[in-house]
Amino acid sequence: MPKGIKKKNLPSKICVRCGRAFTWRKKWEKVWSDVKYCSDACRKNMS
Ligand SMILES: [Zn+2]
Repeated sequence: MPKGIKKKNLPSKICVRCGRAFTWRKKWEKVWSDVKYCSDACRKNMS
């Protein structure tokens, strides 16, 4: 097995609002390519 491969090898992104990494969630399975924020709080915090 290659190093760094975990059992749950889920994709992740960096939140464009807070800059933190977040991991794929079931609720995003159909919109993952469009997800930019880690949470509703970040998504709604438009400035
Ligand atoms: Zn965020």
